[in-house]
Amino acid sequence: MSKSCLLCRDAGGTVLLRTEAWRIVLALDEPLYPGLCRVIWNAHVRELTDLEPTACTELLQALVRTERALRQVLKPVKVNLASLGNVTPHLHWHVVPRREDDAHFPNAIWGPERRKAMPPPLAAETIAALKTALEQRT
Ligand SMILES: [Zn+2]
Repeated sequence: MSKSCLLCRDAGGTVLLRTEAWRIVLALDEPLYPGLCRVIWNAHVRELTDLEPTACTELLQALVRTERALRQVLKPVKVNLASLGNVTPHLHWHVVPRREDDAHFPNAIWGPERRKAMPPPLAAETIAALKTALEQRT
């Protein structure tokens, strides 16, 4: 726990699924990317290699689970996985469902925009479907 760390103080989005070790949240601060999820390790850890091998595997399984649920529910053309943490050095991954007409495609979402896009936020039923998909183990 780090007092100055945003992800130690705050969930980091709407929690869709949580275990003792990690949580999967729906980002609230990425309106251009409805469905963008973050897989956040609950303990304050900087890097993937700071985790024990079994914990590392558990985190990667949570990432796979998130990607699978996003593919099932949102049918994106591509899913991007990114771990940056330069601003918030608390281990977390961005799992980004991409569309060919999103603001940055085919570039990374953090670069200059290639087109104007104003996707509607996810409907409550879609968020519920995402939760259900995340709860499935396979
Ligand atoms: Zn932290």
